[in-house]
Amino acid sequence: MTTHDLTLIAATDAIGIPAEPFRVRHLIGGAWQGSANGETFERHSPAHGVLVSRSAKGGEAETNAAIAAARSAFDSGVWSRISGKQRASVMLRVADLIERDVERMALLETLESGKPITQSRGEVAGAADLWRYAASLARTLHGDSHNTLGEDMLGVVLKEPIGVVSIITPWNFPFWILSQKLPFALAAGCTCVIKPSEMTSATTVMMGELLIEAGLPAGVVNIVLGYGQPVGSLMTTHPDVDMVTFTGSTAVGKSITAAASATLKKVALELGGKNPQVIFPDADLENAADAVTFGVYFNVGQCCNSSSRIIVHEDIADDFVARVVELSRQVAFGDPLDPETQVGAIVTPEHQAKIDACVRQAVADGANVRLGGGILSVPGLDGQFYEPTVIAGVRPEMAIAREEVFGPVLSVLTFRTADEAIALANDASYGLSAGVWSENIHTCLDFARRAQAGTVWTNTWMDGFPELTFGGMKQSGQGREIGPYGLDEFLEVKTVAMRIGRTRAPWVRKR
Ligand code: NDP
Repeated sequence: MTTHDLTLIAATDAIGIPAEPFRVRHLIGGAWQGSANGETFERHSPAHGVLVSRSAKGGEAETNAAIAAARSAFDSGVWSRISGKQRASVMLRVADLIERDVERMALLETLESGKPITQSRGEVAGAADLWRYAASLARTLHGDSHNTLGEDMLGVVLKEPIGVVSIITPWNFPFWILSQKLPFALAAGCTCVIKPSEMTSATTVMMGELLIEAGLPAGVVNIVLGYGQPVGSLMTTHPDVDMVTFTGSTAVGKSITAAASATLKKVALELGGKNPQVIFPDADLENAADAVTFGVYFNVGQCCNSSSRIIVHEDIADDFVARVVELSRQVAFGDPLDPETQVGAIVTPEHQAKIDACVRQAVADGANVRLGGGILSVPGLDGQFYEPTVIAGVRPEMAIAREEVFGPVLSVLTFRTADEAIALANDASYGLSAGVWSENIHTCLDFARRAQAGTVWTNTWMDGFPELTFGGMKQSGQGREIGPYGLDEFLEVKTVAMRIGRTRAPWVRKR
């Protein structure tokens, strides 16, 4: 295949790249500051190759100061002990400010991550809804009462904020993933230290600006810029941190669990996936093919929810793959600043090389590339892109069927019976999400019950709502985000047993 077969969007002048790079500084105890040693690092746009942000590079001094500020703010009660109504009113203001600043934040999100501008706008605007939902939880948060313990007893179960929370986020959806965690931690009454990925920290810093403008007290949210070592590492081991919530790779998630165990911190993990969509012969194939195309190319496949493998009934496999290949040719790849673009750039050259190596390995293992399979150059752009890639003839034991590629690469497996389809879907160390396509409700319900996944979609893919909780089974993570369970993660539970009257029989028999 040549690139002529693809829909390419060349460099555009539609939206300008700012003349000056965005200045990224730490937020510690309510003050913006650089690093004590003056160190910085830079981010170049993965699509355009131009400098877009220059950031302070934090070390142990900044991390310790941020944790101390969060601890002191928590212990002071300035946020943890105010009413739910007061917390909610600040959070609702944040939601309004996010909506006001969608354009400004979406531009930086696109320039740092390489994702299409329309998707950055959707990510930022959608995050406002997460803040509004979490604000509603701040007001309705309550424990339990037990009025059936006997005439002389009353029990109440209180829910309290867990304390200081370390929030560590990746580069693929920096603003959305932050908003899956931060407003829920704040609704619970926690204080936070945040470390965004060093590649995409601008919109987290912009969030810090909005929090201050909304009236959040100093020290409640602190931001430290830098790398996993030493910043992220200290955030997972420091004795003054009560909980770590992390989204990223399974390997780093495991190392965080191990590091946090020395102080027995609570750890919530949102990790990778190898998410299957199963297509039965009675499915609406047109709809299913469109959803598969969306599921694999959204965010260039750099998405924990990427539907990177499909399991298709063998009677329709040839026809279905032909449909997906045809649709893949029509997906617009190219300059993420052009509103027509649906698929943008790969985050780094190293990651592009990793994607390519996975495809080469699949070919060496005997799979056949039906579309793409190579590095793509886009006219006028100095960045990294990868062709939309469909790989058929994949067998379950191949690496391409089991490992997360995190790129625009679809693996196709086939099945004969429903039992075989479910066994293949569950044959993975991951368990984040799964999908089924059939016009038979019984087929869908059976699959939904038996799939080992935190989310199951039937006749759709990647629909999400603040009300619906999200998280992974098996090595896709632990704990849950958003929805009411997303709030519970940041709460401690305390029992208070109360005696009514002086009815307690003495334990000591007086002699
Ligand atoms: P990582 O898991 O390496 O990093 C995620 C975050 O954790 C970053 O902020 C990173 O900092 C930080 N971090 C790294 N090491 C440590 C540590 N020891 N302690 C605490 N924090 C740490 O993801 P990458 O960004 O490097 O991506 C690598 C792979 O991870 C991808 O190819 C993909 O497979 C997967 N991934 C999965 C995601 C998901 O949504 N499930 C999201 C992103 C990636 P820094 O990078 O700044 O050093």
